[in-house]
Amino acid sequence: MPTHSPIALSTWSFGHVANAAAMPILRSGGSALDAAVAGATAVELDPTVDSVGVGGLPDASGRVSLDACVMTNPDRCGSVCFLRDYPTAAQIARRVMDNTIHVMLAGDGASAFAASEGFTPDANHLLTDQSRAAYAAWRTVHPTGQARAGLKAGYVPPMNVEERYKDALSSSPDPSHDTVCVLTRDTQGQLAGVCTTSGLGFKIPGRVGDSPIIGHGLYVDQTAGAASCTGNGELVMGVCGSFLAVELMRQGRSPLEAAVAVLQRIADRYTLHPSHQVAVIAMNPQGQWASASLRPGFSHCISTTDSTQTQPALKVLFP
Ligand code: ASP
Repeated sequence: MPTHSPIALSTWSFGHVANAAAMPILRSGGSALDAAVAGATAVELDPTVDSVGVGGLPDASGRVSLDACVMTNPDRCGSVCFLRDYPTAAQIARRVMDNTIHVMLAGDGASAFAASEGFTPDANHLLTDQSRAAYAAWRTVHPTGQARAGLKAGYVPPMNVEERYKDALSSSPDPSHDTVCVLTRDTQGQLAGVCTTSGLGFKIPGRVGDSPIIGHGLYVDQTAGAASCTGNGELVMGVCGSFLAVELMRQGRSPLEAAVAVLQRIADRYTLHPSHQVAVIAMNPQGQWASASLRPGFSHCISTTDSTQTQPALKVLFP
């Protein structure tokens, strides 16, 4: 007998791809973790989403590396980072959690683990015609392959590039950062979260952002809530963004208050460029949820028993 209404909350306009995969699992009584991983996997495998997994933008060397983590509680989390060639990073992170004593595997070790778990590498090394073309276009203005995104001098961070799928930004010349965060609550009232990304486009090879790091890109504690972050990961990493949001909910803040407080902490502690963007999604065990962003342009997708809606952030710190 279900006692809680299921909820899926995902980042950016492609969050609807995640929720469409997650909600049938939740509605049929499946676990929050199964639903969140299925949602993330759907986005990772969708080659039309050049954000995550297959089709994710490569680094400055032209190769794609993926970061992902999954979590249901402090003692139930798993992660992979700098994963090459295997598209379903969220599923592999879950295997790290389920089948090893470790939390995080990186690089060649993560790939070897994926192979040992029976995952099949992508024959195209996660590149698509679209992402190859984006890299070629980037190389025309960065002929030496210099990693713009990692250099402080002259670096202008891109904003809201995930929303290039929308008409208003479809001609964005500067695609860069990409993440789907999925928070779910199942009919038993259990929370789960997944955060998966190809990271900052054209990054310095080896760069890992907030997304696969527990407490930064994602944090879940059944006793307090779940939160996940997207945007310029280097900003999130200085404030332990997701952990901070969950701890604030533990102290009694609502999901919206917690998400806004994280963004305010970032605004207080960093010299922000006008193009910097961070968004936080949060959900508490009661099923209250929220999203907030530093600047306009972020959207979330929220699915409940009755409806699915893609909406702008509930609160924008600098509208
Ligand atoms: N936070 C991700 C990273 O820094 C990117 C993003 O969410 O767009 O790798």
